[in-house]
Amino acid sequence: MNIRNQYCPNENCNFHLLKLNGNIVIHSRVQSRFRCNRCHKTWVAHRNKMHFGLKSGERKVIVTGYLLREQGMTIRKAAETLKVSPSTILRFKRRLLDFCFFA
Ligand SMILES: [Zn+2]
Repeated sequence: MNIRNQYCPNENCNFHLLKLNGNIVIHSRVQSRFRCNRCHKTWVAHRNKMHFGLKSGERKVIVTGYLLREQGMTIRKAAETLKVSPSTILRFKRRLLDFCFFA
């Protein structure tokens, strides 16, 4: 939860995309949320990360990529290994593709 890398994501804010301008404060340590003091928008620390919006953590998504690509596992086998449903694996795979992990 590094505040130095954070910037206001609100396009209508005068401080949009600007880092280290004193407008970003910690909104919640428990939820890892930051807030812009100017426009009052809040956001979660990992909004730009691969696991944003997923119930699983980043590690599980990356392991999925390893199992599919390096181990050559099928979707079903990877799902069994990680104890998630095959549709979850497909969701992870789509996310990995979005982040160019499968070139
Ligand atoms: Zn703002």
